[in-house]
Amino acid sequence: MNFSPESLMMSYGYKPELSEGAIKCPIFQTSTFVFKNAEEGKNFFEVAYGLREKHPDEELGLIYSRLNNPDLEILENRLTLWDKADDAAVFESGMSAISTTLMEFLKPGDLILYSSPVYGGTDHFISKILPSYGIHTLGVTAYDTKEEVLEKLQNHEHGDKLAFVYLETPANPTNALIDISMYKDVANQYSSEEKQVYMAVDNTYMGPLWQHPLEHGADLVIYSATKYIGGHSDVIAGACLGSKELIGRVKVLRTFLGCMAGPWTGWLLMRSLETLKVRMDQQAANAEKVAEFLSNHPLVEKVYYLGNITPEDGRQYDIHKKQSKSNGAMVSFDIKGGEQEAFRFLNNMKLIKLAVSLGSTESLAEHPATMTHADVDSGLRKKMSITDKMIRLSVGVENHKDIIWDIEQALEKV
Ligand SMILES: *Cc1c(COP(=O)(O)O)cnc(C)c1O
Repeated sequence: MNFSPESLMMSYGYKPELSEGAIKCPIFQTSTFVFKNAEEGKNFFEVAYGLREKHPDEELGLIYSRLNNPDLEILENRLTLWDKADDAAVFESGMSAISTTLMEFLKPGDLILYSSPVYGGTDHFISKILPSYGIHTLGVTAYDTKEEVLEKLQNHEHGDKLAFVYLETPANPTNALIDISMYKDVANQYSSEEKQVYMAVDNTYMGPLWQHPLEHGADLVIYSATKYIGGHSDVIAGACLGSKELIGRVKVLRTFLGCMAGPWTGWLLMRSLETLKVRMDQQAANAEKVAEFLSNHPLVEKVYYLGNITPEDGRQYDIHKKQSKSNGAMVSFDIKGGEQEAFRFLNNMKLIKLAVSLGSTESLAEHPATMTHADVDSGLRKKMSITDKMIRLSVGVENHKDIIWDIEQALEKV
């Protein structure tokens, strides 16, 4: 029987007999592990340091919690199921998953092609930190066609040095979709026998349930596990998933940067994964109701929601049909007016919390232009229609009638 991921989140990869029969994986709050004998210690290190291949039936032994820990290993095994990935690496934050991955696959002189706008922290890392290590950058947007992307590469001084493609789709906060397989073609066009151009997709907005980038040609999927995976606004964590080979490389750098998640974070995320599907299903169902209400409200000018994409949207519609398994639970909208009206709305909410972050059980609202996207270049902000009248909602698991009641009464105050 091939059980669905949601049926395996309570048990997969955990053997109760190794933990006194405890039904749940305990928190292995320990820094180091005792070897049975010196020979075992030698064997474990030979495998961990890549001095020899692991024998087919050999279990990777526990050595030290920066290298491995049961709470992390079991969590990583469970995470692979949703994306059908071979392997996963868990980090102490989404940013450490992103920065470690980029540092592993980029060397001085290389060029990274990335979709813009990306998450603020990612944008800073790519546009400010990577160049200080001699790495060149080239931004593209959701609206660039394949021809335009190839032209940008041809016209770029270091276009021939393309080494990595980094996408975030749907774009935050507008829900503009980026065609993952189109960028795979671009990456392939720049790959050769000596040099493989890898592609990573930040799937935080839609994952791990509603979009599976590996199916569309991505080599790596990255998550801020702080968002839907953690889902309770109480933990910061990240993950990177992909083939055994690529994740093996990412894990080696993680070991030496020391940015793995600790056992307590691992345990919290395992607990979160048990309810991941019911939470996300409910959030998506609520978002549909919220988007419908907003779309019909006279004080709302425009709603940015995947469910509102129609065949008239052309390419966006085709990508949506190909790539999204749900319309998600992120809804942005333009209120009639500007910053003053948007702030009045935000200041009058009673149930929805005024906070950044997303994907949690409670509904959250924020003002992208002055909060999450305050640092984005003003020209790009305008191009992406991130204006003073935009409000971003992350829809939670509350009763949808209460969420809508809150939106309605806050709009009345405007
Ligand atoms: C939050 C977020 C990140 C960063 O994750 P942290 O866990 O805060 O480090 C990266 N990408 C996206 C899309 C995010 O929403």
